[in-house]
Amino acid sequence: MPEMTKRDPDCLFCKIVAGEIPSSKVYEDDVCYAFKDIDPQAPVHFLVVPKEHIKSCAAVDGSNSAVVGHIFEVIAKLSAELGLGDGFRVVSNVGEQAGQSVPHLHFHVLSGRDMTWPPG
Ligand code: AMP
Ligand code: ZN
Repeated sequence: MPEMTKRDPDCLFCKIVAGEIPSSKVYEDDVCYAFKDIDPQAPVHFLVVPKEHIKSCAAVDGSNSAVVGHIFEVIAKLSAELGLGDGFRVVSNVGEQAGQSVPHLHFHVLSGRDMTWPPG
């Protein structure tokens, strides 16, 4: 990890980024890490997380928004490489009521099945 990376010692996804908890890697660079969701909700379901500990979308500001922009570039690149041209969904739950269970910013990428709207 880059020296400047901020981490939370108690955070599950910080531990995954550091390799302290195993994960099934989809992609990695200096800024972000992508890995398969352990409980997939679609034939393709992976998570993209910043290596830096950011709590959620609600904690995005001028100091870290470039990381989010980079993650969306990575999602576009991966969607092309993985052949998700029929459609995919990007979801980020924020807070308990919205279903956020891990307080480290993550983007779910789901694909490979028909999806309904609105979500539950
Ligand atoms: P959320 O509920 O939106 O915070 O998303 C957290 C996601 O992390 C869920 O979809 C979980 O299935 C997933 N998850 C939890 N632990 C792990 C793990 N060790 N490896 C991969 N995915 C995980
Ligand atoms: Zn974290």
